Amino acid sequence: MLHVYTGDGKGKTTAALGVLVRAIGAGKKIAWVAFDKGGDDYNERITIRERFPEVNFHATGLNRIDEKGKFRFGVTDQDKQEGERGLAIVRDLFANNQHDLIILDEINSSTSLGIVAEADILAILDTKPPNMELILTGRNAPQSFRDSCDLMTEMKLHKHYFYNGTKARPGIDY
Ligand code: ATP
Ligand code: MG
Repeated sequence: MLHVYTGDGKGKTTAALGVLVRAIGAGKKIAWVAFDKGGDDYNERITIRERFPEVNFHATGLNRIDEKGKFRFGVTDQDKQEGERGLAIVRDLFANNQHDLIILDEINSSTSLGIVAEADILAILDTKPPNMELILTGRNAPQSFRDSCDLMTEMKLHKHYFYNGTKARPGIDY
């Protein structure tokens, strides 16, 4: 099945992490490819690398947080090169067909930002092995992903402490 977790509220990446925890318990083979998420700021990576080394984990993208802790907006050629690197990993994973569950974290947002090309992803999706479960996360999922998925959940923003001035906190937001 193809899942899409999108929307502007919190909970997309963490929903995928919840499925990952459940799937590990069921003995499934899992790969996680993160797009546009370079750097070491994401604590789920520590959990996966140290506690679940059997998960085939790949991070792509440049660091979006600079030395001063500021978020870098915009898309550079290097961001796109990293997107290409991520797609090449996904092509290999599909061709080798060694996993039961693959999570492409922030692929939706990366597509809407132009870091990866929607047509390239649709071509890759056509090669998905039928028994492989695939989860696409991130804001602004393109209409084509929404049309072709079997499950879509839209996280709706009702409240977020960010708008009251609370910055992202380790262990809760990243
Ligand atoms: P999470 O990783 O917590 O499940 P997410 O994957 O749904 O969040 P992203 O768009 O990937 O959300 O953004 C990740 C970070 O941005 C998290 O720190 C999250 O708390 C924060 N965030 C999520 N939604 C909002 C929002 N509407 N406004 C500001 N920050 C947000
Ligand atoms: Mg996310």
